[in-house]
Amino acid sequence: MTADSDAPTRSVRMEDLVSLCARRGFIFASSEIYGGINGFWDYGPLGVELKNNLKARWWQRMVRERDDVEGIDSSIICHPKTWEASGHVEHFSDPMVDCKACKKRFRADQLEGIGKCSEGGAHDFTDPRNFNLMLKTFIGASEEAAATAYLRAETCQSIFTDFKRVREAARQKLPFGIAQIGKAFRNEINPRNFTFRSREFEQAELEFFVAPADREKWFQYWLAERFAFHQEIGLRPEHLRQRDHEPDELAHYCNAACDVEYLFPFGWQEIEGIHDRGDWDLTRHTEYAGKDLSYVDDQTKEKFIPHVVETSVGIDRTTLALLCDAYAEEDLEGGDQRTVMRFHPALAPIKAAVLPLSKKLAEPAEKLARDLRKRMNAYFDVSGNIGKRYRRQDEAGTPFCVTYDFDSETDGQVTVRERDSMRQDRIPIEGVAAWLAERIEG
Ligand code: ATP
Repeated sequence: MTADSDAPTRSVRMEDLVSLCARRGFIFASSEIYGGINGFWDYGPLGVELKNNLKARWWQRMVRERDDVEGIDSSIICHPKTWEASGHVEHFSDPMVDCKACKKRFRADQLEGIGKCSEGGAHDFTDPRNFNLMLKTFIGASEEAAATAYLRAETCQSIFTDFKRVREAARQKLPFGIAQIGKAFRNEINPRNFTFRSREFEQAELEFFVAPADREKWFQYWLAERFAFHQEIGLRPEHLRQRDHEPDELAHYCNAACDVEYLFPFGWQEIEGIHDRGDWDLTRHTEYAGKDLSYVDDQTKEKFIPHVVETSVGIDRTTLALLCDAYAEEDLEGGDQRTVMRFHPALAPIKAAVLPLSKKLAEPAEKLARDLRKRMNAYFDVSGNIGKRYRRQDEAGTPFCVTYDFDSETDGQVTVRERDSMRQDRIPIEGVAAWLAERIEG
């Protein structure tokens, strides 16, 4: 998918965001000391909290709050036949071209804006060839074809292979879904746009199994649910849109598909796909495994292969959208400037920073931080002047700073500063945890 040329331009520049992410420990190149490895990224102390908060929110909404969805956590490597049944061995490929001069490799459908050949002038491309995106590995001591396995290219296939076991174990009836969050791997020809297109990434997927006649209804239901989720986590509505797939874009087994797109600094791009996959998956696994995966409706006694509505969101892409949406540079009174990450408080890596005004106040302030940590991720910082400490927390996206000053000793109160408005309020120490919790969870 290429970026829209008519996309409104966004103020955040990717190079500023990428540099803040590395400097503050959100996200940086994997194996950085060896020069990095293309398409692989590490999440630092702030990044892992942000990503975990996103995953926890998804799990809460999609699994915990529902009677009709069960969670699983399957292995990354599954039986190689899984990928034959799913069609990945045969079809999961992108068209690739090589430049005969500079020897670089590109996706044939993404040549727009790649620039000139480093050897001078235009690239000298080969004819497009198909390149399978699955990452191969070998099981056991031998590297023979018989021992070949694949790192999963999507998390959903094990949901299909586990369908019967999970349905029976959880005593579920249609309609119901199975969800999981986990790593997926794709040997992308041209990883780019920071974490947007990586070779190792996380997906959160739901496969919702329905009777054939109910497909359309559930497709609309899940599209609305998922679109609402992205607004709930704080992405601005004007940066989100839905895009229906054209008939010629649909996978051959897909009856309908709609992407949720986010307006990144590099244009509108997919962060989630909602797909009506029909009965393709369970039919194929029935055939390849020789196991009956059909379902009998206990009222009508009708026997059929369940149809599937899928919601598939990239955790890394959504985390990147959260970072882009949150980033702001502001001019303050007095000619000062600040960079602030305006995360939704529920998603913010650190919820509150406790800052004693002087080192002499460290002990009681640290006690407050310890108490807060029982309920939320709280940070304690005693070093540097208070203005610098506020700026550091603004960059980390911490929604509240709690300042413990000399008066706190006598009046039993602290000052809480809100990140976005920078408004300050004085509140009793014993009420701080409840005050924060109310504002974080809304
Ligand atoms: P694209 O067209 O951008 O390659 P896709 O249509 O192949 O994406 P799906 O197979 O539908 O993507 O995967 C579901 C979700 O997984 C995507 O919406 C995206 O958020 C995430 N995803 C897919 N590929 C990658 C990748 N290489 N890096 C990061 N996230 C990815």
